[in-house]
Amino acid sequence: MDNRTNLVGRTSAEITELIAPHVDRDFRGRQVAQWIIDRNASSFGEMTNLSLALRRDLDSYFSIEEPEVLQVIESSDGSSKFLFGLSDGVGVEGVSMREGAKATFCLSSQAGCAVGCTFCVTGAIGAGRNLRPGEIVSQYRAMLRHLDAEVERINIVFMGMGEPLLNTGNLGPALAVLSERVSLKRITVSTAGILPGVQWLAGLEKRPKLAVSLNAPDQDRRAHIMPIAHRYPLVDLMKALREFPLEHGRRITFEYVLIDGFNDAENDARATARLIRGIPAKVNVIPLNEDREHFPDLRRPAAAVVDRFAAGMRDVGLTVTVRWSKGEDVAAACGQLRQRQSTR
Ligand code: SAH
Ligand code: SF4
Repeated sequence: MDNRTNLVGRTSAEITELIAPHVDRDFRGRQVAQWIIDRNASSFGEMTNLSLALRRDLDSYFSIEEPEVLQVIESSDGSSKFLFGLSDGVGVEGVSMREGAKATFCLSSQAGCAVGCTFCVTGAIGAGRNLRPGEIVSQYRAMLRHLDAEVERINIVFMGMGEPLLNTGNLGPALAVLSERVSLKRITVSTAGILPGVQWLAGLEKRPKLAVSLNAPDQDRRAHIMPIAHRYPLVDLMKALREFPLEHGRRITFEYVLIDGFNDAENDARATARLIRGIPAKVNVIPLNEDREHFPDLRRPAAAVVDRFAAGMRDVGLTVTVRWSKGEDVAAACGQLRQRQSTR
């Protein structure tokens, strides 16, 4: 067993403080932090501005431990799906997407999901354990190493496996580390509407952006596909969102998975617009990614229906984007990530 203290998943200040008792000069700790946080180092051996003796010494007290990247599957559209093997043998997936000079990292917060939305493969496989800060941050680190030099801007979205706001104890520290490299303006936490979690986020001094998976404009239909809505009803959620503190120019993103014949009528577009009126918002329409094994009865609407739905919202002044998921050919699209047992 490795009894060393893992430095991954800690902020620069924390690393500096941990290192302090082992070094003769204060700036050594900051150097180590720079290597790990700014330069994404994965071993003490890389830290060439430290003496060999110090590197060896540090290596006996500290580790730079990350989940193993078991597999990277490249999609034809430029996205890459990562399979990570955690130290206890659990597997989680994450996706790196590429659009021109911009990359978006879709990270997982849990190795499964207990929320159980009926249209989501992660939900169908059920609850999985909370990922620790280092396991969250490591997904970002691995994806960063995989990028080519042309990428100028990175966005992070917590839209992979799991419900981030059911893991705030680890999400908080992970955000502190990630935000040293990526502005919180470019980090989005997506939630199925976990009210205590939304309130936790509202109370933070510095917040990432918030996305809420709405998926239906009324309580009954929402609860039908998102059982968590029984626990946190739509009225209460909307009230919390109306009170949610928004930095200047920021908006709440509402995600809306479009399911054929269920929530895709023009009337539903108008009802959604009425529901969110008054909240600085944008809507992200996601045509359902089908999965014949886990939810054989749910279908993606025809493209014309998707367009009509989006147009119905735009007509009343909403900002709408349609997200035709990336990585479908490698099962890396929204709602397709699952837990694979690693072989370790
Ligand atoms: N648990 C969080 C974040 C992970 S899910 C949440 O639910 O918000 C990220 C997004 O993928 C959510 O907006 C969810 O509604 C969407 N999604 C889940 N399954 C999907 C599917 N089969 N097709 C399209 N989008 C899906
Ligand atoms: Fe969990 Fe989000 Fe999937 Fe719902 S959509 S089951 S909350 S991961």
